[in-house]
Amino acid sequence: MITAVMPTYGRKDVVFERGEGNYLYATDGRRYVDFTSGIAVNALGHCHPYLVKALTEQGSKLWHTSNIYRIGNGEKLAKRLVDLTFADTMFFCNSGAEAIEGGIKLIRKYQYVNGKPGRYKIICFQAAFHGRLLNALAATGNEKYLEGFGPPAPGYRHAPLNNANVVRDMIDDETAGILVEPIQGEGGIRETTPEFLKALRAMCDEYGLLLFYDEIHTGFGRTGKLFAYEWSGVAPDVMAVAKGMGGGFPIGAFMATEKAAVGMVPGTHGSTYGGNPLATGVANAVLDVLTQPGFIDGVHERGKYLKAQLEGLVKKHPAVFAEARGTGFLQGLRCVVPAGEMVDRLLSLGLLVPIAGENVIRIFPALIADKAALDEGLALLEKAALSFEADAAKAAE
Ligand SMILES: *Cc1c(COP(=O)(O)O)cnc(C)c1O
Repeated sequence: MITAVMPTYGRKDVVFERGEGNYLYATDGRRYVDFTSGIAVNALGHCHPYLVKALTEQGSKLWHTSNIYRIGNGEKLAKRLVDLTFADTMFFCNSGAEAIEGGIKLIRKYQYVNGKPGRYKIICFQAAFHGRLLNALAATGNEKYLEGFGPPAPGYRHAPLNNANVVRDMIDDETAGILVEPIQGEGGIRETTPEFLKALRAMCDEYGLLLFYDEIHTGFGRTGKLFAYEWSGVAPDVMAVAKGMGGGFPIGAFMATEKAAVGMVPGTHGSTYGGNPLATGVANAVLDVLTQPGFIDGVHERGKYLKAQLEGLVKKHPAVFAEARGTGFLQGLRCVVPAGEMVDRLLSLGLLVPIAGENVIRIFPALIADKAALDEGLALLEKAALSFEADAAKAAE
């Protein structure tokens, strides 16, 4: 019999009832170190007192009014993010995939109002992840995810990452833009090089295309900068954000330069919930914490420590871990043993991590994680490695 919740996920058999900072507590009372952070969503950990206060205060004042009226919290949040980034304007939605689809609409409309209505195609990258809505899914391009859902939405082609020549060869009269994750998350923590982003920027400028970054999981401090593109210094024309933005409250957005957003006039896009007072109230509170002096620099510093420790684990346990990848608190460990088994072993030991492509486990501590919390998770990674080694030794007997 089908479960009451539609069975679209392969869920772990654990139910959490409480969270506090870096830790989750299951219904059986067991405590877990959380290096999943809701897949890079719980930027400030669980139930951060400042966010709880913002949520409950806003929750007792005003939740939702609709976009028929002005929304003060949203105007404030947009102004702050515009001041902090390349963007001049932004549209609020409720999830990552919605932000991607909105950005794609913006790109097509830009070409349309600039006299190029035939330009609609977006060049994407192999192993990308952009979400599960029909166009975001076509942009993702994963055949397993696309299977059975009819013809993929037209206009999405996939180039290998970090190969500018292939991208250049793909550009034709119908190309409208290029969509790239500065660091691929689901794909296995695969980083773009600054040279590659520079080459994409140059191509976009040369051919009149828009450069669209998917910073849905790299954004809001995760890499040790507010946005990952700051590492390369190569600004996009359009950017999708979500995940860490609300610290667990569902909110996303697409951001753009004034030039890119030229076609987004009244009536061109909309969302019932997007940017409501409650969501933007919480997101303002998240941003308050992220922009405290030293907060994101602290993620950078502790990220370097985390990376060095992960590299140490790889060196010490080469039969278990193959490689450490990533920046800040967006780290991955490519495994030698099956990554799915590693995730299960860690769960049984009390550490939560999500899996990614290329046999990688993701290491996503909350941005508030201090050295002690990191060490606690690292010790469990070591324990798991030792247990795999013990299994291998036993099998060899
Ligand atoms: C999670 C994610 C998405 C999709 O976000 P949803 O909120 O699940 O729709 C898109 N792109 C990237 C890079 C992501 O990590």
